[in-house]
Amino acid sequence: MAADEAVDQECVEGYLFARSPTRFLLFRRPPKRGRIWVPVSGKVDAKDPDLPSALRRELAEETGLTELRALDPLNWSVRFEGPDGRRWRLHAFGVEVAATSVPRLSREHDAFAWLEPAAARQRLYYSDNQAALDRLMERLTEESEQASTALAHPTSHFPPQAIVLPTVGEPLFAALREGHHTKVVLQVPAGLVRNAHDLAAAIRDAVGVPVVVASRACFGACDFPSPSETPGADALVVLGHAPIPNVPLDRTTYFVEMRDPGGDPTALAERVRDAGVPRRLGIVASVQHLDLLGPFVTALEALGYTVRLGTGDRRLQYAAQALGCNYTTAESVAADVDAFLFLGTGRFHPLGLAFAVEKPVWSLDPLRGEIELPVDRGQLVRRRQLLVAKTRGARRWGILVSTLAGQNRNPTALVLQARARARGLDAEVFVSDRIDPRDLEGRDVEAYVNTACPRIALDDSDLYPRPVLTVPEFLMAIGETPLEPYRFDTYH
Ligand code: SF4
Repeated sequence: MAADEAVDQECVEGYLFARSPTRFLLFRRPPKRGRIWVPVSGKVDAKDPDLPSALRRELAEETGLTELRALDPLNWSVRFEGPDGRRWRLHAFGVEVAATSVPRLSREHDAFAWLEPAAARQRLYYSDNQAALDRLMERLTEESEQASTALAHPTSHFPPQAIVLPTVGEPLFAALREGHHTKVVLQVPAGLVRNAHDLAAAIRDAVGVPVVVASRACFGACDFPSPSETPGADALVVLGHAPIPNVPLDRTTYFVEMRDPGGDPTALAERVRDAGVPRRLGIVASVQHLDLLGPFVTALEALGYTVRLGTGDRRLQYAAQALGCNYTTAESVAADVDAFLFLGTGRFHPLGLAFAVEKPVWSLDPLRGEIELPVDRGQLVRRRQLLVAKTRGARRWGILVSTLAGQNRNPTALVLQARARARGLDAEVFVSDRIDPRDLEGRDVEAYVNTACPRIALDDSDLYPRPVLTVPEFLMAIGETPLEPYRFDTYH
């Protein structure tokens, strides 16, 4: 496997677990290696085709377990200096096995134990291991909550559907007619609010159903109007966003992605070359510009570029796509490129991408043909670290939780609260469907940690009456993790 230039040795670690009830399988290192409890881990060899294969090999060698029910990346990696002074990076995976699995001990371990979640967390020696286990627990809790919701509504044989269309037009109208809906709600992003009136009228005329427009500002791709905001509407039309595969829907939702293949691919590629963008290039695009990718990549390759488009995790619908809270498409190819190019508009995604991949991130607006120089990640990180430093003495914390399905991290909030309390700090959880700075005025809180959309902490923090940190920043502020390496907060 190709190595990232900023890393000398890639490593993998697997958190073995079984379900019903959830239990974790941990291993103890022998006395000469500290008798500490750890997950299974090991180095990635040059012969390993990818990280999952490396972990499968390690599991077979160290535990004899080869019958795996699932092996999923936790999108959690840690960098550190190895005993040889080289720069190592460890990638964490959740590995499901049968509850009856009995591992074989190798020279790496002298004991193993199946443990309840709280006991497993307590027994793990390294805080990074605990953090990865928290992430796995968060995912398992989310899955079991979704399963119980499905069981609680046995009359619904099919989950609400996501129907994807490229633009507004007859295919959308035909799909809506076929759906035989009684009332449709239309949600438009900020850039299209002027057109909302005409679009609603066009749908009403073409489909023959009442249409209402959601007037509240749309915060992002997982911020849909709730049924209580739009009573009686049994269909939702969302403009400008793609479905997020791991976000459940509460009614049939038509995602009109507003694809725009506009822009001259050859002229844009020449613009990239003339700006001096490195030749080994990863591209990430907002959903509107995904149709331009094919011809644009061909044009870049004709100029001598090697382009990589990555595949994301269960939160991303398309290759090369990105969300402000998830850049796994870029992370999947980061080792093979020298820089990234963001195809789209606005600064939020390039900033998040720069935090996530630690590579120069250029931006190209395909419609205007304007290119922007790389984001200065160092400056961004220093600004965030300064904020962390300012909150280090805070004793009263507020933990922000959104109840929106796509950004509800209540399990994470409870873990953070427990960690704060274990350090003698006061921490209350504040819950709302939308986090609004006006609701936080006048509270006896010195600083907040945001578990909802990362835009709140990274883009809008100036609007809040107190500093707002991300989850990894909070752990730095209360002394659980060091300031370096700086970690971006991502959702999976
Ligand atoms: S949580 Fe992610 S998907 Fe939801 S609005 Fe924020 S950036 Fe977009």
